[in-house]
Parts: sequence; structure tokens; C-alpha cells
Amino acid sequence: LFIVFEGGDGVGKTTQLALLAEHLRRAGHEVVVTREPGDTPAGAVIRRLLLDPATGDLDPRAEALLYAADKAQHLAQVVRPALERGAMVVCDRYVDSMLAYQGAGRVLDVAEVAAIADWATRGLHPDLTVLLDLDPALAVGQIADKDRLEDAGDEFHLRVRQGFLALAGADPDRYLVLAARDTRERIAARVAEAVAARQA
Ligand code: C5P
Ligand code: MG
Repeated sequence: LFIVFEGGDGVGKTTQLALLAEHLRRAGHEVVVTREPGDTPAGAVIRRLLLDPATGDLDPRAEALLYAADKAQHLAQVVRPALERGAMVVCDRYVDSMLAYQGAGRVLDVAEVAAIADWATRGLHPDLTVLLDLDPALAVGQIADKDRLEDAGDEFHLRVRQGFLALAGADPDRYLVLAARDTRERIAARVAEAVAARQA
């Protein structure tokens, strides 16, 4: 199974990723935990370029293409090989982050961004996408050392949140939307339940 965690910055994706991986490993699965952008050697360079404040303003299309390049490399080098040998892949962000950040956030045409992302990933879709939803004032506001993107402004993060919620609303079978303010134990239990339902 290919399981993705999505949501704004500072909503607890990394914590939940780790809890799910632990749960699945205890059940005897090989689990590959990975993230976008940055989880390949080439991707790490792309990630630095994207997050470094010294990069300055990137044209939104240039930004989208850099995320797409990271994704293509990540799919080819990490995600597909893992899925092909039967591992569970648990990924921090995927295509929907591009649609929410570069589409809704940077106000690019979401269908055009989706076409680029689909090309980059050869159309590989997750079996389950968990959206951890939280008011960005409570999430991004808590981050002390903001990177270039976290520092993009309140309006931007509100558009990103709405972007994610719209994607979830359009594809309810693939999405599990959870309030990120809930306890980490309750969130983890709901995620485990949703994964179990997809293993059947
Ligand atoms: O999730 P993580 O903090 O590792 O992501 C790095 C940064 O890249 C975040 O600040 C996130 O807002 C941004 N991002 C983005 N567009 C994407 C994926 C991530 O702007 N498609
Ligand atoms: Mg971040």
C-alpha cells in the first residue's frame, strides 16, 4: 500500500508517520518511510534550493517544476521499487501538496499543475491520503525558525488549507480528513483503522 500524509506546515505529519510505521512494523510489514521534497540525493539538492531564503522569489512555475523534478526522482528511486517488492510506503507529502501549495497557494491553474504532477509520477496515486487539518494560525504560527515557504504569509497558508480541503472533498474514498488538534493517540488509531480497511 502507498499511504500519504498531507496537510499544512506544523500539523504533526512527521509524528503520525512515525506512529503508523511503528504500528505496521509490529504487524510484520516492511515499511519505507519517506518524504517529499528531498528524500533522494538529487532531491536533497532541490530541497535546499527550494527552502533557502537566499533563493529569493521563485517564479511559481519554476517552483512547481522543481517540486515535479523532485517527485519524478523520488518515485523512480524510492517509491516504485519499494511498492514493487511489496513494502508499505508511508510518505510525508505527495502530489496533493503540489496542488495545494503551487496550485491554490501560488494561484496556478490546479488542473495544469495536476497534469505536470501526473506526468512526473506516471500517474501513480496513493491508496490512502490522510489530511491533517488545522487552522494555519495555530500551526505555522508555532514554528520558530521559518523556512522560505513557511514564511510565505497568512493568506498563502489559508489558500493552501482550502486547497487541501477541496481536494479531499472531491475524492472522499481516497481521503481521511482528521482534525490535527485531536490527541496523537486518537489520530493514530483512526489512521490505523483506515489502513486496515484498505488491506482487506
Ligand atoms: O513538509 P516539509 O516541511 O518537509 O516541506 C518543506 C516545505 O516545502 C514546507 O514549508 C512546505 O510548505 C513546502 N512545500 C511546498 N510545496 C510542496 C511541498 C512542500 O511549498 N509541493
Ligand atoms: Mg515544514
